Amino acid sequence: MVGDVIGAAVEAESPGYIRKTFQSLDDILALKSVPELITGEWEVGRFTDDTQMTLAVAEWLAPGDALNGKALLTRFVQRYEPWRHYGPGTRLILESFHGARDNWQALATAMFPQGSYGNGSAMRAAPIGLFLHNDMLALLEIARTSSVVTHSHQLAIQGAGLQATAVALAIRGVYEPTQFLRLLSVALAHFAELGEDTSVYKTAIARISAGISKRVPPSKMVQLLGNGIKAQEAVPTAIYCFLAAPNSFEKAVESAILLGGDTDTIGCMTGALSGAALGENEIPERWLRRVTEPEFTPDKVRQLALDLFRKGQKRNFKGS
Ligand SMILES: [Mg+2]
Repeated sequence: MVGDVIGAAVEAESPGYIRKTFQSLDDILALKSVPELITGEWEVGRFTDDTQMTLAVAEWLAPGDALNGKALLTRFVQRYEPWRHYGPGTRLILESFHGARDNWQALATAMFPQGSYGNGSAMRAAPIGLFLHNDMLALLEIARTSSVVTHSHQLAIQGAGLQATAVALAIRGVYEPTQFLRLLSVALAHFAELGEDTSVYKTAIARISAGISKRVPPSKMVQLLGNGIKAQEAVPTAIYCFLAAPNSFEKAVESAILLGGDTDTIGCMTGALSGAALGENEIPERWLRRVTEPEFTPDKVRQLALDLFRKGQKRNFKGS
């Protein structure tokens, strides 16, 4: 939520502009609002579709019932607020859902015939890692179910699976880079076993590994990994920002936002990883205070997360 709130204020800006204009992320949060295309003004302190959909995923997981795609889409539609910068493909799906009736599964390929490989399913995958941190196979299955309703391309499904796995590893205290990346490769191998081409993320993991061992800063690595709206760019870059600053939530999120591009999503995903690893006390209180959401306050989000984590420890997952 915090990474999304900060990133939203500089979404789609260049790294050069952000560095030139702001001394620190606190300068971004000091703004009341920023100009915005659709409504004219974006209130700094609000979160975007990333957090809104992440919360919907958390609400979908929390009852621990059989988890199916239609129930998740229904939650997305209930929580849909177009002003939160949803991508065009997701907008189309959510706005068509009620009219589609039994054909809702076809919506995922309505705009992109091969399925979208946007980062929209990876950006909301954190609660899956939180909940299923003890069960990697269930985690990957549920990440797939959660992705295909809007992002059915293999690259999006694999990206969501990797981001959820990365959150689970961080929760389990695994963030020594070699071991962390090895376990991510194990998760990726499950997709290969299903006959999927995993070469794109295999290459990305190898690049992350080389970059971390040579201490390449995220601002340089981004030229190789990317900072755009594709899952195959955002997921590796968020993982890199986390691994490059494994002991500081502030530094990890700052490095992600300063990359420019899809700042809200990469900030959101980096924050999810770093927060999972370091715990909520590492999230600067002054950043949390700048969240101006009336319903999902930091306290409410904390409760939702804690609830999912505890249920996950008991492993009452039933699946479908
Ligand atoms: Mg967003």
